[in-house]
Amino acid sequence: MLKKFSLFVVAMMLLGSTVSAHGSETGVTADDALKMLIAGNQRYYSGLHEIVDIGQGRRNELLKGQHPSAIIVSCSDSRVPPELIFDNGLGALFVIRTAGEVVDDEALGSVEYAIEHLGVKLVVVLGHEDCGAVKATIAGEKVPSHISAIAKAIAPAVDKAKTQQGDLVANAVNNNVDMIVSKLKASEPIIKEGIARDHVKVVGAVYHLETGKVVFR
Ligand SMILES: [Zn+2]
Repeated sequence: MLKKFSLFVVAMMLLGSTVSAHGSETGVTADDALKMLIAGNQRYYSGLHEIVDIGQGRRNELLKGQHPSAIIVSCSDSRVPPELIFDNGLGALFVIRTAGEVVDDEALGSVEYAIEHLGVKLVVVLGHEDCGAVKATIAGEKVPSHISAIAKAIAPAVDKAKTQQGDLVANAVNNNVDMIVSKLKASEPIIKEGIARDHVKVVGAVYHLETGKVVFR
């Protein structure tokens, strides 16, 4: 037991921070946060999920404040809940969800808030297979009211996909993720400066509905 604990302490020292099993403490680097997301997703798709940080103890702990380890910008699709697919409990992920994971000013402000005020260093843009928002944009039908703003934001990803070989929807999903990653990376000053100082990382990923795997791009 002592040996196991010592190994744990050494591992935490090597990580350079006081990271909990679910990575929800302060000082988590972007690379370590990414490793924890990959490990959590592996537990999830392997059926070994172990979400433990959702009880009264954890709620009490979080009364002091939140220190999430990653920002997830994901689609609102009910099949893609970030906390579940990354096997995380309360206080671990700062999540922004919109249909097609499109990022408007309010969403961008939320990302900036988490970087600036919560010290989060990793931003993951998470698209998914068979995204309804992307498919609706491909269908090109007239959409009512504010839904058109989503289709308009996704349209360049679809236009590019039409020039590419392979599956149109899959390519458009990938393009949409890449486009949003580029938009975030270019956003000044908070994100762009964070990247320049090597503090902040923005990465894209696509969730696979059947396998449960998140494939990072
Ligand atoms: Zn979607």
